[in-house]
Amino acid sequence: MKELLYYQDVMLREFDATIVSKGIDEAGHHYVVLSNTAFYPTGGGQPHDTGTLNTIEVIDVEKIDDEIRHYIQGDLSALDGVIHGKLNWPRRFDHMQQHAGQHILTASFVELFDAQTVSFHLGSEQVTIDIAVDALTEQQLAAAEARANDIILENRPIQTAWITEEELVNYNLRKEVAVTGDIRLVMIPDFDYNGCGGTHPTSTGQVSAIKILGTEKMKGNVRVSFVCGQRVLIELAMRKKVLADVARQLSVPEIEAATTLAKVLSAQKNTEKALVATKEELLTYEAKALVANSEGVVTAAFNQRTMQELQKIARIIVTDQADIMTLLVSENEGKLQFVAAKGKNVTKSMKDVAGKALPLINGKGGGSDQMVQGGGECTMSKEELLVALQNA
Ligand SMILES: [Zn+2]
Repeated sequence: MKELLYYQDVMLREFDATIVSKGIDEAGHHYVVLSNTAFYPTGGGQPHDTGTLNTIEVIDVEKIDDEIRHYIQGDLSALDGVIHGKLNWPRRFDHMQQHAGQHILTASFVELFDAQTVSFHLGSEQVTIDIAVDALTEQQLAAAEARANDIILENRPIQTAWITEEELVNYNLRKEVAVTGDIRLVMIPDFDYNGCGGTHPTSTGQVSAIKILGTEKMKGNVRVSFVCGQRVLIELAMRKKVLADVARQLSVPEIEAATTLAKVLSAQKNTEKALVATKEELLTYEAKALVANSEGVVTAAFNQRTMQELQKIARIIVTDQADIMTLLVSENEGKLQFVAAKGKNVTKSMKDVAGKALPLINGKGGGSDQMVQGGGECTMSKEELLVALQNA
């Protein structure tokens, strides 16, 4: 373990090695095992490296039964004897920045609030840690982030050491070590001592910066999402673009975008309320006009009126006019709809009216003796349906 190139020199980007064995796993994936390697295999929360062996792509690296398998894209026969390995360094260095940043942030939460990290996930865009607390305040998050960035700015060394179980007592470890035999410690002197098999830069300054992006409750813990290093700039660029777009659409400086948006949304709510009130008023006028132009029965045929509008108009009329029956029809996208309603002095049942009219349009409907609504096919014109309703 200690001899592995990624432990010997964590900054090693290229190396030579010989092929020890080749194989094909159960899933049919081709792999090679090397005499030594700088390719880090998936483990301890850190994703595997990628890169090339000679010109062949390494797409996955896994440690299985004490051998490190380099899964390759393509044919095994292209590789033989001595090979030249080359890491996808931006990917590896990004993982080192995120992983070291995680140690620093986790240790900051422990130092400031005695809050332990119970799990860690290094995702392709963000990193998360689950902290064993019920809640974290904005102030606590800000304090932990500030402490972590101080440790980065101080550019402390990140050291590693291999020790035995017996030697563990000499170190003030952040949490108990689960492995036995040779134990690898990753240490930031006077700050954090931790058992870890991952790769880290050689000093905290190389983490560059750390930014917490959000929190969510997760099974009794609080999950903290954050980014380190180059990812801080990527996040900043993305957020800058979104904010600039919002500010441009609102025609205000970015700093005023949120308050302006709140005003716009509030104004929109008021407009919607006013529009609803105006529509109601308009329906009242329309109802009055229909009554003024008719005797005994109000009839009207429309295009593209909603059932709700028909119902509202009918209700307004029959509430005011105890002796009037109202029959309204609308043709909407190839369908006929109608509403029939009566004032309280009219004896005829609207259910009977619907019962006779619905079969004529292969329709369905329902309601009470006072008011019914129904809809069906355009087997006749809307005017013809009005006549049928009147005669029903
Ligand atoms: Zn670690």
